Amino acid sequence: MSKFRFRLLFALISLIITVLVGLGLLLGQIFNSFYINTYKDRMEKEASLIALLLSEKKLGDENIDSLMLEASNTLNSRLTIIDNSGNLLFEGGEGRFHHEELISRVLNEHMEETDGFQIILDEDRLFYYGLPFYENGEKQGFVLLNSPVDSLKKVNQQIWSLLVASLGLSLVIILLLGVRITSQYTRPIESATTVAMELAKGNYKARTYEDHLDETGMLSQSINILARNLQDMTRAQEMQQDRLQTLIENMGSGLILIDGRGYVNLVNRAYKELFDINSDDFLYKLYYDAFSHEEIIGLIEDIFMTEVNVRKQLLLPLKIERRHFEVYGAPIIGHNDEWKGIVLVFHDITELIRLEQMRKDFVANVSHELKTPITSIKGFSETLLDGAMDDKQTLEYFLSIILKESDRLQSLIQDLLDLSKVEQQGFKINIADCDLKEILYDVYTILNSKAEEKEVNLSIDIRDGIVPVRGDVHRLKQIFINLISNALTYTPKGGRVHITALNQEEHAIVTVSDTGIGMDEEELPRIFERFYRIDKARSRNSGGTGLGLAIVKHLVEAHKGHIKVNSIVGEGTTFTITLNKDEKFD
Ligand code: ATP
Ligand code: MG
Repeated sequence: MSKFRFRLLFALISLIITVLVGLGLLLGQIFNSFYINTYKDRMEKEASLIALLLSEKKLGDENIDSLMLEASNTLNSRLTIIDNSGNLLFEGGEGRFHHEELISRVLNEHMEETDGFQIILDEDRLFYYGLPFYENGEKQGFVLLNSPVDSLKKVNQQIWSLLVASLGLSLVIILLLGVRITSQYTRPIESATTVAMELAKGNYKARTYEDHLDETGMLSQSINILARNLQDMTRAQEMQQDRLQTLIENMGSGLILIDGRGYVNLVNRAYKELFDINSDDFLYKLYYDAFSHEEIIGLIEDIFMTEVNVRKQLLLPLKIERRHFEVYGAPIIGHNDEWKGIVLVFHDITELIRLEQMRKDFVANVSHELKTPITSIKGFSETLLDGAMDDKQTLEYFLSIILKESDRLQSLIQDLLDLSKVEQQGFKINIADCDLKEILYDVYTILNSKAEEKEVNLSIDIRDGIVPVRGDVHRLKQIFINLISNALTYTPKGGRVHITALNQEEHAIVTVSDTGIGMDEEELPRIFERFYRIDKARSRNSGGTGLGLAIVKHLVEAHKGHIKVNSIVGEGTTFTITLNKDEKFD
């Protein structure tokens, strides 16, 4: 039984018991006094009757004794008659006699009485009713009627036991009904209380029974509606929280939230990855302890002081490299101008800056490369116009230089066009089945004269009858012309350039190796950049602009192949190209 029900029941039962006991006492008293009054009344009447009889008859009459005896027997009472001096005149009826005490009490206490009076002899619990009797208007003595108190006692007991029995029975009935009614009313309340407590703990799945149609039923219904609403609300809030969390964690930029007192409250995953930090060393610390970069601390201080948005580019050292960040910081000001903190967003713009730098370099390089041949063409033409053209020999010599420079310009422009074409998005090559052996022999034929001119031994060794690949014949030729002409260019007289091709299961592998000047290992990653030349003076003499390998790299990638380079300074270089035999191009 729950505490609430017990208390309710206890209060109810105590109230009922009090009422019943009070009622019992009252009823008992009423019944008792009613009975005693009736009894006294009767005795009074009987005594009056005897007194009347006595006043009619003379006291000395012979048959008075027998009359009195008869009267006492009829009345079933004990009758005592005494005179004014206390002399016993008559005595009759059953029971013991107590003359002395009775007579002395009458003489001492009731001598002057004119009406009836009562005497109770304590010793035997005897009740006497006394009444003076008169003859010719003169008081002659007293009639004393006696009846045992036992009968009174008996009646009293009967009244009380009847009352106790009936009230006890009603108490039991009331108790049974009370338990039933209270349980009917308290059970829904108890269940609702339990559910309300569960809700307060945060368990919004708790529900109570709704099997009553009265007020308690309404209470259960309301509790259930409340629980459902709370559950819906928390679910919606959780969803929102989840979405926000996912957004914050997965956004590409680093995000930091600092509260109004300067403590870091939130660090997202992107920031942790960018700066390679552990959130434990960062969260809930003061911003100037958490951040190690002075620039960021300065920026935060600026926002704290000025309360305006700040956008700034920062170059921050991170481990071994330095990265560019665009940092956006904004104060968070809530309703009523309440200062809530600062939000900082870090965009990593290193790549953008690099591209921008590349674009600038490209423009500078192109202008520089164009400037040299154009200056010389212009210079020679001016000299010719100034009169040198009259000398045929000089004219021919200058014109041949002008032609050479124009060729160089043309090839540079062609290279640039090629490069811009292959670098363009959506650049497509015309894929077809082709034989690498045939392509390499064609290139060999084209470049053989150049090799002979340079007195370099150019050789080709392909064991397989055919080396099939999927690719664009012209682009593949371009790749190998660039590589082999590089090999010829950077191999001194008497050196060797050797070409091989291998037909493997999934790939075809071509190597172009020379015994030329070779390259330092540090230079290798850079030679595929546009305009990159190792020995600027020498390669310019060779007519190179540094675009050849950039084009090669793009074309190999367009074929979904790989290019690799091994080189030792003074010993030679080997380029290895792996091409796929049945790559799916889409
Ligand atoms: P071009 O655009 O006319 O080809 P280039 O030959 O100078 O000019 P790349 O072909 O891109 O330019 O080569 C870049 C640089 O790499 C060259 O300047 C040269 O220094 C170096 N290089 C390329 N191939 C070799 C090689 N086989 N041996 C030694 N150095 C080489
Ligand atoms: Mg080249």
